[in-house]
Amino acid sequence: MRRLVLFAAFAVALPVLAQPVALDARIERAVAEVAPRVVEYRRHVHQNPELSNRETETAAFVARHLRGLGIDVRTGVARTGVVGTLRGGRPGPTVALRADMDALPVTEQVDLPFASTARAVYNGLDVGVMHACGHDAHVGILMGVAEVLAAMRDDLPGTVVFLFQPAEEGAPAGEAPAGAEQMVAEDALAGVDGVFGLHVTSQYEVGELVTRPGGMMASADDLRIVVHGKQTHGAMPWGGVDPISTSALIVTGLQTIVSRQVDLTQSPAVVTIGRIDGGVRSNIVPDSVLMVGTIRSLDADVRAELHARIRRTVTSIAESQGATAEVAIAGEYGYPVTSNDPTLLDRMAPTLRAVAGDGLDLDATPVLGAEDFSYFANEVPGLFLWLGIRTPGASDQAFPANHSPLFRIDEDALPLGVRALTQLAVDFLEGEG
Ligand SMILES: [Zn+2]
Ligand SMILES: [Zn+2]
Repeated sequence: MRRLVLFAAFAVALPVLAQPVALDARIERAVAEVAPRVVEYRRHVHQNPELSNRETETAAFVARHLRGLGIDVRTGVARTGVVGTLRGGRPGPTVALRADMDALPVTEQVDLPFASTARAVYNGLDVGVMHACGHDAHVGILMGVAEVLAAMRDDLPGTVVFLFQPAEEGAPAGEAPAGAEQMVAEDALAGVDGVFGLHVTSQYEVGELVTRPGGMMASADDLRIVVHGKQTHGAMPWGGVDPISTSALIVTGLQTIVSRQVDLTQSPAVVTIGRIDGGVRSNIVPDSVLMVGTIRSLDADVRAELHARIRRTVTSIAESQGATAEVAIAGEYGYPVTSNDPTLLDRMAPTLRAVAGDGLDLDATPVLGAEDFSYFANEVPGLFLWLGIRTPGASDQAFPANHSPLFRIDEDALPLGVRALTQLAVDFLEGEG
């Protein structure tokens, strides 16, 4: 921090210097200069939201911007993703920075001059489309970062890869794998030594930058169980096999996995059955029952253990009733745990302290929501950050949670996002932190 402040003061006093200034001071100045444009980029993307795997205009907007900066661009990665490669003037490692581009099937209720009025068809339904998760801010921030880094390319000791990915919120039915998983499959991380990303959240205030070592966001796996019994008259259940009473035992049995079998000091865990379908009337025992749910954890080993125990519990209980059960674990939101590499976090902590000062918190409470940044961080050391977007002092009601139709962002939060990603990239390349 000291080095940064000294050079920043120097730069303000002497804006035109014959000697090259340290990159830190140039970043500080360049971020202030790019900040108004980041707001413009964010607003443009906000007003023109596109659903997962449909981000064609957003991708074109990003690609045009990167090409204009002289950055090599690959488009059509994982359908609509954009990968930009900026080669620095000096040799060195390669760092990747990630932004997600997709919006949600949510009808915006925020009163803004650039509010979304977009509509689209989602799963056969006509829906409003809104950047209710703040990915518009992520795109704007990373476009700003690209601008800052491109201007200092001659002095960069290595390569920066910009990952603008589609479908973080999950691909439409039949289009998985998608998003980060598919970007990795299409070699977006070729040669990359480390990856950084951030997510805006109304959980924290403007100026706050929050992360933690290890599991920060959960793995999320869809669970689908079909219990097969044998249909019979409801007055003579002994004539068949009842999948409804079997399902009830299974729901109860599943809860004992979390409460009795998993070491909860290692990781929290959740198994939720969110839907049960079976039967048509009071006096018929049906042939089968469908149950769907979600499985969450913050540790890869616990995740694997949960899966194995769920399979065992479901099939054994079904067998005990004379029924059979199919268990499928996967699906739309089957993301791994988003886990921050502790060594990388240690190394970059001084950088984070320098950009966020007292706003830095390295002891974030983990959340059981999921993020497909995990696919990148499973390939190379990764670090994911929460960026606070709530106006300091404002109430929770004034800044509803991500995915709300009332989700909004205090744009004063954006420069810290630009500074954090830029400085992380530069310090990573310089082997500092
Ligand atoms: Zn989201
Ligand atoms: Zn999101």
